[in-house]
Amino acid sequence: KNYLAADNRYDAMVYKRSGKSGVLLPAISIGLWHNFGFVDPIQNGREIIRTAFDLGITHFDLANNYGPPYGSAEENFGTIFKKDFQGYRDELFIATKAGFDMWPGPYGNLGSRKYLISSLDQSLKRLGLDYVDVFYHHRPDPDTPLEETMGALADIVRQGKALYVGISNYGPKETQKAAELLKALKVPFILHQARYSMFDRWVEDGLLDTLEEVGVGCIAFSPLAQGMLTDKYINGIPEGSRASKNMTYLNSDTVSDNIHKIQELNTIAQERGQKLSQMAIAWILRQSQVASVLVGASSANQLKDNVKALDNLEFSIEELKLIEGIIS
Ligand code: NDP
Repeated sequence: KNYLAADNRYDAMVYKRSGKSGVLLPAISIGLWHNFGFVDPIQNGREIIRTAFDLGITHFDLANNYGPPYGSAEENFGTIFKKDFQGYRDELFIATKAGFDMWPGPYGNLGSRKYLISSLDQSLKRLGLDYVDVFYHHRPDPDTPLEETMGALADIVRQGKALYVGISNYGPKETQKAAELLKALKVPFILHQARYSMFDRWVEDGLLDTLEEVGVGCIAFSPLAQGMLTDKYINGIPEGSRASKNMTYLNSDTVSDNIHKIQELNTIAQERGQKLSQMAIAWILRQSQVASVLVGASSANQLKDNVKALDNLEFSIEELKLIEGIIS
């Protein structure tokens, strides 16, 4: 069926400026790390993307190796884009990245100019796009001079293959240095993508301050700690959930280790008239440096649910204290 975007798609979403740039991002963005590979049903992915856009989610986050197999999330997104979104390209803000392992041999990983430029060329082919809105270096590479990596990002922008650049998983010092280099190269550096949730607060230890200083926005990934900060694991591990699949980063042991905290947080959320997932998202959006919270979803309904976080973004001092007592 042909897709026509909802007329009211911009009515409810909140848009936040990314650092000191001209870019406004939806307070909630959607990532395609899971649920968009060739192993997943594309109809479900298509429904998630359509639902996202109908809710005012303009920002879609990909990477070269999302799948599995590697590359397949970009290819599926390209297929969905071609069918449903060609007429909406200028309303979309599409990201991809390179930095983790992608293809065999010395040029398919980390941070060389060789890797970044060829990887983005591959990504554009899979996506069926002429350019992406933001291209990230996905993680710091301790062995490649930062000048080379940032120089590659600069040339990618000059070649018109990305409008803006970002970095991900860089610590505060590396971020500061990257910002200096990119400024000297006159490259629009607008986003830092970092893991941030009630269960992982490393960004509060210097990174957010650095981002404030350099005028770059933070986009927070795994805000629900991959599903732990929802009500899904309260009564055990449901069949088909991410933890049931025992992926590398989330397994049943991690859930068990955190279950008491999850239950206590769930009670606070209920008292606020919110779901835990909604409270977890709202809690991140309190930080002024956070331009967007980057969620994942295995169904369109999860996404609809998560966007309702915007109905209550305020926290009382008492609530914050209670939460702090549980998570610190
Ligand atoms: P989340 O913490 O939002 O976890 C998403 C998962 O939680 C869903 O797939 C679903 O899992 C579950 N979930 C979501 N909403 C609900 C709900 N309302 N009720 C119950 N369960 C729910 O984020 P991700 O870890 O998926 O990361 C989000 C994005 O961040 C990625 O897609 C990617 O774009 C980016 N990312 C970037 C990284 C980087 O290094 N830069 C690293 C990791 C992610 P289930 O399958 O169990 O239903």
